[in-house]
Amino acid sequence: MAAHKSALRLYVTSDLASDTGVVLDKGQAHYAGNVMRRQAGDPVILFNGRDGEWLCDFQEIRKQHALVHVRELLRPQKQEPDIILLFAPLKKIQTSLVIQKATELGAVRLCPVQTVRTNADRIREDKMYLQAIEAAEQCERLSVPEISDISRLEKALDELDADRPLVFCDERFAGGGNLQVLETLKSAGKWSLLVGPEGGFSEEEKTMIRARDNTHAISLGPRILRAETAVIAGLSLLQATVGDWSGDNVTSE
Ligand code: SAH
Repeated sequence: MAAHKSALRLYVTSDLASDTGVVLDKGQAHYAGNVMRRQAGDPVILFNGRDGEWLCDFQEIRKQHALVHVRELLRPQKQEPDIILLFAPLKKIQTSLVIQKATELGAVRLCPVQTVRTNADRIREDKMYLQAIEAAEQCERLSVPEISDISRLEKALDELDADRPLVFCDERFAGGGNLQVLETLKSAGKWSLLVGPEGGFSEEEKTMIRARDNTHAISLGPRILRAETAVIAGLSLLQATVGDWSGDNVTSE
């Protein structure tokens, strides 16, 4: 019965090494056994964001836990482009979309920021983390992005390293030349992207953002995008210019 099933892909926090055992918690055991109907002997792929991706198999699946035997390294861990997303949380569904898409698009940290016009449902960083795990499992990513606690915009900007360029998605930006701007940021080796709330940033906030050294405004075209679309477009632009879409500018393995 198991033969036609593709291997589940699960994120774990345990270390992964050849010929070792990993214990899955109750939630993952339930998912594997009851939801996905896996049984002892079935393959499963595990990753932990540190040790690469491993082919494993289930040894036993119980109600409270499951045991997995780690067999063979499928892919070594790779360094990912160091891109942080700062975003104003939105309504629940849109925020979920942002978490899912930003994970698929490879942001390494997701930072919800409180802005003057943030109009969000209650922020649940723990839920966001679970959504990020699910997206990472599904998109074959080798890591799960960190989710920061929500902080005020000003504090979030203060906490960014000075040498980390802030790419500011500004729907009223009149200048052109996104690609040239991003080209100059290639050598920075780490980046951040800032997208505002549905209502946009206030004038004071825009002044504060622009006043930060190493802020680079970009336009995502002449149409006003919804914030979640802007996240997708902005991260795509970064991956295509300084990130891992071009294949020639990701540093080490
Ligand atoms: N209500 C605002 C629009 C906010 S759009 C207004 O009408 O002016 C939400 C966020 O998406 C903005 O804060 C910005 O960061 C980003 N965004 C949307 N469209 C964009 C565009 N064309 N270029 C750059 N950023 C954009």
